[in-house]
Parts: sequence; structure tokens; C-alpha cells
Amino acid sequence: MMGKAGSKAGFLKDALGALGPSAGVRFGEPMASHTALGIGGPAEVFAVPESEDVLVRVMRAAMECGAPVVALGGGTNLLVRDGGVPGLVVHVGALKSLEATGGEGAEVRVRAGAGVRLQQLLAYCRREGLSGIEALAGIPGMLGGAVAGNAGSYGTEIKDVVQMIRLVGFDGTVRELGVEDAGFVYRGSSLSGAGVVTEVTLCLRSDDPADVAKRMDGFLRRKQSAQPVGERSAGCVFKNPEGKSAGELIDSAGCKSMEEKGIVVSRLHANFFINRGRGSAGSFMILMDAVAGKVKEVHGIRLDPEIRVIGK
Ligand SMILES: Cc1cc2nc3c(=O)[nH]c(=O)nc-3n(C[C@H](O)[C@H](O)[C@H](O)COP(=O)(O)OP(=O)(O)OC[C@H]3O[C@@H](n4cnc5c(N)ncnc54)[C@H](O)[C@@H]3O)c2cc1C
Repeated sequence: MMGKAGSKAGFLKDALGALGPSAGVRFGEPMASHTALGIGGPAEVFAVPESEDVLVRVMRAAMECGAPVVALGGGTNLLVRDGGVPGLVVHVGALKSLEATGGEGAEVRVRAGAGVRLQQLLAYCRREGLSGIEALAGIPGMLGGAVAGNAGSYGTEIKDVVQMIRLVGFDGTVRELGVEDAGFVYRGSSLSGAGVVTEVTLCLRSDDPADVAKRMDGFLRRKQSAQPVGERSAGCVFKNPEGKSAGELIDSAGCKSMEEKGIVVSRLHANFFINRGRGSAGSFMILMDAVAGKVKEVHGIRLDPEIRVIGK
């Protein structure tokens, strides 16, 4: 098995080597350095393409070598297994363009690269007086990841302001999708299954910068008092079941402060699991099973994961 995966990586190494430093290729890159949890074994091949053109060539090379591809943003919604990720991890962090591109009346279109940090985009909206995503204040990660996971908070989902998505498919073709083609659902979309998002056009509204800032600060304060934002987590572990709060179900099932070898259920918000510094993906998943089992036993409700689990 190792030989098969290893030979794909070998072919990929040769193919990506031809692209030179523009593809930012590394081998055996520890994913723990790229996840908010600080957990995860090595990516067999890791690339940070400097532009969409280079990404196209990276994706073609991966397809020709038969290597699976996973996109990576800020790693803030991701649990990477301890055995690492076979194939190629594409980090979009270098795709950082950000500009207003016009709009009619009070409407302002903003085009931004997938590697723009969501909070950098919010800072831009605050400065320029652009309204629409104030409720996302405090959500970490990058724009591509936010769109792929349809990030949301306090009644706003990013899909509400998305107009167009540009992505490079697994076969290396560049496509532009409208919001209706992205398969948006609660905390998800079909985008990760289609390729790597490179750029997003958002439709925002012009507003008084002071009002925008006031609303953002209000949402940020709410988030900071309700979530363990300064600790190592991957955000909410489970999706909220229809009409219910997963955090409240976990809390009332008696799971607060449950622990498994360095991973602990947060006392502040029970749907956040914290890595105290020496946890592994294995212990995180054992704790997930234990908590989901307890909630099923006490409330008869099945919890579905919100975090993405990748690797072997
Ligand atoms: C303290 C804390 C608070 C949080 N609060 C919230 C919250 O209120 N609401 C909320 O929705 N989330 C929240 N999250 C979760 C997380 O921050 C968001 O889901 C965020 O949008 C994920 O973005 P990312 O760049 O980190 O994605 P990653 O974790 O890097 O990736 C997540 C998934 O998206 C895919 N992906 C990433 N980039 C791309 C791309 N360019 N193209 C295609 N697929 C891609 C990955 O393959 C993976 O499947 C929180 C997390 C933390 C740690």
C-alpha cells in the first residue's frame, strides 16, 4: 500500500518540480502546523500555488499522477488524522487579491481571493462601510474555506452575499459558478467535491462605516463571551440538529468537561473541543464518539459532525 501511494507522490514530485518555486511544494509537511487544533500527521505532498495559473498546472499534474487533492484554507474547521494525508494538499493562502469591482446604487461588488482571511475581509468592510457580513465577525479561517463550508453566525450565512465563485476543477479547468450551482446547505456546499475555490465575488451594501463597525463589534462581543475563541479548537464539532442547539444537548447530557487524553469538552461552549496541547486526532475522535453516544442515550438525537475529518 505504501509503495502505491509513495509512487504517486514520486510522480507528483517530478511533475511539480518542473513548476519551480511558484508552486511552493513541500513533502511530508506536518499538518499540525496548519490546523487551529494543532493536530494532524504529514501531508504527503503540500503545495502553495502563487496564482490561479500555477494552481491549474498543479491540479493537472495531480490528475495525471492519480493523486487525490484536498484544499486547505486556515485549517480552522479541520481534523487531520494522525497518519497524515495521502496525495496532495493545496493551500490557497497565497491567493490574496481584494478589490471592489462596482455595483449599482447602494450595491457594491467585492472580488476577493480564496486566501484572504475572513477577518481581513471584515476589516475591509469596516473601513469601506460595506454591510452584509457583520455577523461573521470573529470567525477565523479564509474566504475559500468559509464559502466551501457556508460559514454562518447569528442568522447570517456567507451564501447570503455570494454572487459568483471561481474554482479550478480536479481536471485543471477553471469554472465560474453562480450561487445556485454551489450546492449550499447549512454549513456546507458541493464546492470541495468540485475542486479548489480560487476567488469569490460578494454582493454587499454601502453603509455608514460607523454603523457597520458598531454592528461588527456587537457580534464580536457576543462571540467572545460565548465561545472559547482564544483556545485550540476547530469551531463547532457537531451541526445543530433542526431547531436545537448541539451545545445545549451536549451540556444537558452531562458531557461538559469530559476529557480524552488531552482533548476536553469546553466548559464555556460544550460544542467546542479543546486541545490542551498534547491531544491527537485519535483521542479527538474517541471523544466525539463518546459525546455523540451520550447525547443519543439521553436525548435520543443523533449528532452529525460539522468539522471536516481528513487523512488516514
Ligand atoms: C474559535 C472558532 C470559532 C468558530 N466560529 C464559527 C462560526 O461561528 N460559524 C462557522 O460557520 N464556523 C465557525 N468556525 C469554524 C471555521 O472557522 C469556519 O468554518 C471557517 O470558515 C473555515 O475556514 P478555513 O479556511 O479555516 O477552512 P479549512 O478548515 O481550511 O477547511 C474546511 C473545509 O473547507 C475546504 N476548503 C478550504 N478551502 C477551500 C477552497 N479554497 N476550495 C475548496 N474547498 C476548500 C477544506 O477542504 C475542508 O473540507 C469557528 C472556528 C473556530 C476555531
